[in-house]
Amino acid sequence: MLWTKYASSGPRIARRLHISSKKISHSKVYLITSAVLTTGLIGSYLSHGYFDDKKNKYELSPSHFVKYRISHKQDIDSSHFLLEVTPLVKQKVNMWSLMTAEHIWSVEIKQPEVMVVRSYTPLPLEFNPTSNETEILKDGDNADGKLSFYIKKYENGEVARWLHRLPKDHVIEIRGPFVDYEFPHLPDELKRSRDCLYMNNFNKGININNENPKYIYQPYDVIMFTAGTGVVTALQLLLTESPFRGNMKIFHTSKNINQLGPLYSILSKLQASNRVQLQIFESDKQTRKEILKNIEKAATRPYPYKGLLPFSNVSGNKFEPILALVCGPESYISSISGNKDGLNQGQVQGLLDAKGWDSQNVYKLS
Ligand SMILES: Cc1cc2nc3c(=O)[nH]c(=O)nc-3n(C[C@H](O)[C@H](O)[C@H](O)COP(=O)(O)OP(=O)(O)OC[C@H]3O[C@@H](n4cnc5c(N)ncnc54)[C@H](O)[C@@H]3O)c2cc1C
Repeated sequence: MLWTKYASSGPRIARRLHISSKKISHSKVYLITSAVLTTGLIGSYLSHGYFDDKKNKYELSPSHFVKYRISHKQDIDSSHFLLEVTPLVKQKVNMWSLMTAEHIWSVEIKQPEVMVVRSYTPLPLEFNPTSNETEILKDGDNADGKLSFYIKKYENGEVARWLHRLPKDHVIEIRGPFVDYEFPHLPDELKRSRDCLYMNNFNKGININNENPKYIYQPYDVIMFTAGTGVVTALQLLLTESPFRGNMKIFHTSKNINQLGPLYSILSKLQASNRVQLQIFESDKQTRKEILKNIEKAATRPYPYKGLLPFSNVSGNKFEPILALVCGPESYISSISGNKDGLNQGQVQGLLDAKGWDSQNVYKLS
């Protein structure tokens, strides 16, 4: 059966931050944006054991739906909630170690009554009923395949409202992963640890400065413009196993910080651990015009991609973004970077155009 997203939906297209296929360590590196059909892309990176597992109908796969039960649901405010789902059959594949921060990925949740699917971006979080806290998964732990989502329910929206109504233990069906953006794979690169983010370590003040490994390649910096639930794309990169290694700045806009619920304290931890520089703009306190003006003032111009230089060449902690990712509602994307044109990216306009960004270094996620 064909499950539709919207009448206009076509094939999902992912974009890669592309580097030359020449030997990485010495290659001249280009920042090229290339569209890749997601299904093809999945084939290219999910090699080896994944496809063996895919034959297993219980393992998460883009080609069939897998059953998950709602294991936790938590209202944040009248229109935002956290949803945690647990697969009926434990997942062998750890999506977090497979995807790492090289991919932004999502899954599709099926609404069987109206025969539609909608995309949602999983986060490596797990609700701990003993502490009543939302915790970050540890390296090597996929919590048997649990997935957590931060979801907004729109007043007349079909799927999120339905999800919100479902009781605990209700079984829903999910397929994926679908890659929405891909960063270059750096062979033999060291993993960045998440130790500084775990509650106990965080309270002990363990931070990036005393757990920084000797990377092989100089990391690249990214600037993210997010609004509403768009913040999940940044969080996925920062919280996944082998998290994003470069400097990241997030300009996040939401009605107020309360809408972020437990995600706000996670973002604060990331900020305190030097994993991200975060600026939040609250539309309860400022007009849209004022917010855009302030974002424009604070936003950086793009820097050229100098190539994957040896890590020893890293000069201080300067923030030199080579890529801008924009994620939020249509009107937000339009103000920051110009309209998307259906499934195509459309021209880069708006605030980013004014700052010298263009289609080579901007990607609009929806
Ligand atoms: C890759 C990707 C990842 C995503 N990740 C997340 C995530 O992690 N969390 C999250 O909350 N969302 C996420 N989304 C958005 C999500 O997929 C849904 O679009 C969202 O939940 C709304 O779906 P819905 O069925 O509830 O609402 P819809 O029925 O799609 O309605 C949404 C809004 O549009 C309006 N609307 C509906 N139909 C029309 C129409 N024909 N004309 C005009 N207006 C209309 C409705 O009134 C409502 O205000 C993601 C989207 C993508 C593409």
